[in-house]
Amino acid sequence: MPDDARVYPERPREVEPRHANTLAGELNEAQSRAATHPDGPLLIIAGAGTGKTRTLVSRVAHLIERGVRPERILVLTFTRRAAQEMLARAERLVGSASRGVHGGTFHATAHRLLRRFGAEAGLPSDFTIMDQGDAEDLMQLSRASLGLGDKKKRFPKKETLHHVYSRHVNTEIPVPAILSEEYPQFREYEEGFAKVFADYTARKIDRNLVDYDDLLLFWALLVESNGPLAERISGMYDHILVDEYQDTNHLQARILRGMCRAHRNLTVVGDDAQSIYSFRGATIRNILDFPAQYEGTVIVPLEENYRSTQPILDVTNTLISRAEERYTKNLFTKRTGGEKPWLVTAHDESFQTRFVVDRILELHEEGTPLREIAVLFRAGYMSADLEIELTARNIPFEKWGGLKFLEAAHVKDVLAFLRVLENPRDEVSWYRLLLLMPGIGDITARGAIDAMSLLMWSADAFASYEPPPRARAAHTALVQLLDALRSHPTEGDGIVSHEIARVRRLYDDILRERYDRVEPRLADLDQLQTIAGGYPNRAAFLSALALEPPQATQDLGFGSGSEDDVLVLSTAHSSKGREWDAVFVIWAVDGWFPMSRALGSAEQIEEERRLLYVALTRARNHLFVTYPLNVYDTRRGADYSIDQLSRFLDRGVREKMQRVVVEKNDGAPVSPDAGTRPEIDLRALLRGRFGAA
Ligand code: ATP
Ligand code: MG
Repeated sequence: MPDDARVYPERPREVEPRHANTLAGELNEAQSRAATHPDGPLLIIAGAGTGKTRTLVSRVAHLIERGVRPERILVLTFTRRAAQEMLARAERLVGSASRGVHGGTFHATAHRLLRRFGAEAGLPSDFTIMDQGDAEDLMQLSRASLGLGDKKKRFPKKETLHHVYSRHVNTEIPVPAILSEEYPQFREYEEGFAKVFADYTARKIDRNLVDYDDLLLFWALLVESNGPLAERISGMYDHILVDEYQDTNHLQARILRGMCRAHRNLTVVGDDAQSIYSFRGATIRNILDFPAQYEGTVIVPLEENYRSTQPILDVTNTLISRAEERYTKNLFTKRTGGEKPWLVTAHDESFQTRFVVDRILELHEEGTPLREIAVLFRAGYMSADLEIELTARNIPFEKWGGLKFLEAAHVKDVLAFLRVLENPRDEVSWYRLLLLMPGIGDITARGAIDAMSLLMWSADAFASYEPPPRARAAHTALVQLLDALRSHPTEGDGIVSHEIARVRRLYDDILRERYDRVEPRLADLDQLQTIAGGYPNRAAFLSALALEPPQATQDLGFGSGSEDDVLVLSTAHSSKGREWDAVFVIWAVDGWFPMSRALGSAEQIEEERRLLYVALTRARNHLFVTYPLNVYDTRRGADYSIDQLSRFLDRGVREKMQRVVVEKNDGAPVSPDAGTRPEIDLRALLRGRFGAA
């Protein structure tokens, strides 16, 4: 920039508050009691669609109106998207003053605090964040280096090791207890687990790596440490508000206790009937024990639902009334009218798809925008057929959850180059990229890593490593690439996408050699380059990707913007907290929803039920639940099997729905009762008598 240039400042974007002072009239009595609650602990425990999130936003607005400085308010949410939306809504209420409010996920907030304060607690501030896949790979290195990967033994896989580790950190349940409960077959390896975990921890320290669990753990340890540093951190905020509290874990509860110890100005909202993340260590004990942990807690229950029609609530209330344990009550609405939800039987998947697409077009013609329609399913892969049909019929959609973009091998490959530049001690990335190079195999790769480790991972350690003859060409090419990248400036517009472009001069040929379906993969890398353009430097880019992996194509900064009229396809998990005018829940088949791998214990089944409850309670006016009768399921041998309707749609629930059958081309309708669970299953009774599974 020339020295005499004048800086043209960004023009402040003023947003006028919609209401000069109060928000009354927008909230019912209970909601406004919560929003205007003075200081002290506050628990809003209420069912779906009762305005919990809306009340939380109003409370933020109220605090600001009351004179609390916005930057002293912290709002914690489950996703980045949720935080952005809440803060945008607060802005509409109180104007741009709310822009100073801090909002984000627990992990993102931990990251921000650790970059700022970590150095004072022995955590060098240039640490690299590992995502779950990286953490598993590092676990694998530990496992192998301890000689536990021996083929003869069935020592647990890296995914299992990581799961047990993460569960232990997040829940504080001792490892032996986790093994007894979840992996009794691995109990004999208790010592092995301990060794791997110790090695994994040492590697992380040595290589300056931080995993997701560390982010929370370090934050908790910092605020619990009772020194001046803990005081500074916990003194940053005067009010903390948490949405979806039912899905927080033990560690997150500890963090909140530490952060609020001086003022106890903590507001949490949640619904125990919507707790769906116990597999990540979330516990509804947090919400249930809250009043006991914070003496003087004011509890505000909300019972009026503002989202759905009564016929939809009749179905969802009945569904959740079957739950073993629950604390929130039946919901009602003052809204009148509305049609009964549909329970739709289709001959097979292609009929299900046809129904969904036809009905979407019909709703659209009647005036429902596509963005007011969502199709929900239990797992990401279940929408494949639908995606093909939507594409063929030119119906724009975006998909949330289950997005594998960053997990794709070729994307991870490219990131590995950037990561060794950022952190030369990042062994996992070294290993990955070395194996990509022609002429370098496992032994050479390990040899190179050992050599670099001996040289204390200095920047030129790889250049001074003497490769075996076969690997010389690859070694030279790689050294040249890394040198070229190191000699570039590291800060500035478009710098990261430029780096990716440089990596691709070497990598694209490797990609063509190694993978099938080359064109879409190259297109992915183009997209990666585009996203990278939005970051000032490599460190910011890598942290953002590791920490807040994009949830939807939209978050990746390409494809459709949120303004566009596109249909949403989403996993049930990613639909949490959202609402649409019309909702389709597909694959309501036993084994699919509930998913068969989640049938191991009564608790898991209960969680599946709550997950279906979350999905169904997203609907405002129209709800369609579909199930194909014939499932072509390769998992059970490539053959058709007749499947049964989801066990959660029992007779009582079905009675609240209208039955619809998708017409077959030959004009023979499918019997609407086919596939439903018989009232008494004689064979099951007989099997039960002899203890057979
Ligand atoms: P979930 O459990 O799904 O997260 P929630 O309890 O957070 O739901 P919100 O998303 O805040 O509920 O609200 C559900 C819908 O009801 C929203 O469209 C919201 O604007 C509307 N709503 C909430 N309270 C009121 C009210 N007092 N008057 C009018 N509409 C309301
Ligand atoms: Mg909500």
